[in-house]
Amino acid sequence: MQFFRPSSLREALEIRAAHPEAMPIAGGTDLMVEVNFGRRRPGGFLDVSRLPELREIRREGRTVRLGAGVPYARIIRELPGQVALTQAARTVGSPQIRTRGTVGGNLGTGSPAGDALPVLAAYDARVVLASATGTRTLPWHDFLLGPKRTALAPDELIVATEWEAADGPGSFSKVGTRNAMVIAIAGLSLQLDGAARRVRVALGSVGPTILRAPEAEAFGAGVLDEAGAWSDPRARVPEDAMARFGELVAEAARPIDDVRGTAAYRRHACRVLARRALAWALDDRRAAAMEAAS
Ligand SMILES: Cc1cc2nc3c(=O)[nH]c(=O)nc-3n(C[C@H](O)[C@H](O)[C@H](O)COP(=O)(O)OP(=O)(O)OC[C@H]3O[C@@H](n4cnc5c(N)ncnc54)[C@H](O)[C@@H]3O)c2cc1C
Repeated sequence: MQFFRPSSLREALEIRAAHPEAMPIAGGTDLMVEVNFGRRRPGGFLDVSRLPELREIRREGRTVRLGAGVPYARIIRELPGQVALTQAARTVGSPQIRTRGTVGGNLGTGSPAGDALPVLAAYDARVVLASATGTRTLPWHDFLLGPKRTALAPDELIVATEWEAADGPGSFSKVGTRNAMVIAIAGLSLQLDGAARRVRVALGSVGPTILRAPEAEAFGAGVLDEAGAWSDPRARVPEDAMARFGELVAEAARPIDDVRGTAAYRRHACRVLARRALAWALDDRRAAAMEAAS
């Protein structure tokens, strides 16, 4: 078995084209589990963990670009303003896993339970892919195709993910059997965007891939409008509208019964997480407005 350790993206892409049997490996926290359990036997490894191009975090105006090889521990330290993403990063595994594991690897695995993925969906993120012949950028929903199925071509690497930073609060929350080292039974990310007057909600672990909840999003934006909460963050959204928002999010889920939880429990979890996430976001906007006024 060959082990390649390139030191630049260009070199890595040449190796990728010449040796499609060599699987990219970043932190190895998904891939090595597969190898150790005998579920995969790659013809070789292509170590992408040292590529400087994949380890960059860049901001240009409102655009945030996160290199595919940036580990969760750095996201927590270096992107505190991206609250939903740092919350998701904090829930991944243990300190050891957060030091090695990357969002590129989360995308590469493409599991519906990947904790970074609902956040990228709620951010409307794009995935930047490169091969020796060029670069292409896909919206997240064209990259994540199904359970552990992605649009990555055999000669491509994931280089980065990028999104426009929203004007408003966001969060990530998940339900599991305990607080740490747990695969989500249901995960949810919500992002408010005051400038665009939009509510975006994405769900993990409750469908074959990450799902958005478009009806709930339109309803949420509408009730904030009716309550006058877009222009005045102190305005209250009625309790029955908050509950209806939770219902609509639960209706967008496509859960199954499995070892981690039943479909009914997952739907219930979505309802609770959604209502809570919207309440947190409205509270955060209210607190920010009061602080600005004081
Ligand atoms: C104990 C433990 C706890 C965990 N807890 C969580 C958790 O709470 N939440 C969660 O979401 N995940 C969890 N995971 C899973 C894992 O840590 C994450 O999915 C992590 O993001 C994987 O990143 P990695 O860099 O280690 O990926 P790797 O294992 O290196 O790679 C994963 C896949 O992506 C591909 N890949 C990686 N980088 C690239 C690239 N640049 N271009 C193309 N393909 C690429 C690889 O070929 C492979 O198919 C846990 C794993 C363990 C072992």
